[in-house]
Amino acid sequence: MKRRTRKKSKNGIFIVLILLIILIVAIILFNTRNNSNQNETKEVSQQNSVTTISDTEAPVIQIDGEDVKILAVGSQYSNDKATATDNLDGDISNLIKVNGDVNPNQVGTYQLTYSVTDKAGNIAQKEQKVIVCNPLGEAGLPVLMYHFFYDGTKEDGSNRDNNYVEISDFEEQIKYLKENNFYFPTWEEVEKYVDGDIILPEKSIVLTFDDGDDSFFELAVPVLQKYDVDGTSFVITSWYGYRANEKQKNVIYESHSDDMHQGGSNGKGVMLSWSNEKIKADLVNSNNVLGGNATVFCYPFGQYNDNAIEMLKETGYKLAFTTAGGRVKPGANKYALPRVRISKTTSLASFKTMVN
Ligand SMILES: [Zn+2]
Repeated sequence: MKRRTRKKSKNGIFIVLILLIILIVAIILFNTRNNSNQNETKEVSQQNSVTTISDTEAPVIQIDGEDVKILAVGSQYSNDKATATDNLDGDISNLIKVNGDVNPNQVGTYQLTYSVTDKAGNIAQKEQKVIVCNPLGEAGLPVLMYHFFYDGTKEDGSNRDNNYVEISDFEEQIKYLKENNFYFPTWEEVEKYVDGDIILPEKSIVLTFDDGDDSFFELAVPVLQKYDVDGTSFVITSWYGYRANEKQKNVIYESHSDDMHQGGSNGKGVMLSWSNEKIKADLVNSNNVLGGNATVFCYPFGQYNDNAIEMLKETGYKLAFTTAGGRVKPGANKYALPRVRISKTTSLASFKTMVN
């Protein structure tokens, strides 16, 4: 009896032990599972925070106005409206800060910096220049017309026609413009000026050079570069198109036709006698040679008619120049703009009168 009891209690202990082991194993299993779940959660949250940190895209600022804003002295002024959008933060226009001040009553050039920072710390900046000036008068904008150059120290100018300008005379003219703070508007600004959308500063001037021959590139371009003044080369692309590939500093390349700088059967330039298809092909080709960005045209021999204008419009040119004398004014015909001819006999004194 005693033995039996002992055997019975031994069995009980054994069962309890087994139950205990099962319980321990269950607890261990449960914990392991839980841990691995937690790890997964951790990984996911880590991935999330990695995504946030990797926002390296800066917001984009858009100013509701020109990059260079030209203002008549004494006019009302407030900073242009600006908006900022960020790839993650969305519209953050309210965070834009503007650095710099404009005094609309004081002639001068003012630099403004618009900046904004997104939540990840990426900064976007945009510059705007505000020119406060006395506006260009009613006489209009002088667009100077040059052709060829010669070096008087090497060659006698007496056998050069009036289209040639002695290079030291040219340098004196450019030096004068630079020292007197002339403003050199872009073609976009000239177009807006003609449209009556913007004003230009009192001393504004545009330099153009017809044909694009070697004497321009070898003698005049170094002078433009020395004074850091932009000039437009109206290139006859079938003759001098290779010059456009040089992309020289301070030279803007525009079209003087591809191959229409030649006389036609009617005794006038071929732009007045060729078929429309041929004219358009020439205009498109010239633009292609210039890199596809040409917007300004100079008529061969200055000759044009309504049809030539139509062809220019159809091929995307925005402005066109003749050789007629005069200044460009608001409201002018954008496809028959006049110029001021500078020639061999132009003295510095008469040059000053022509540009002022
Ligand atoms: Zn020409």
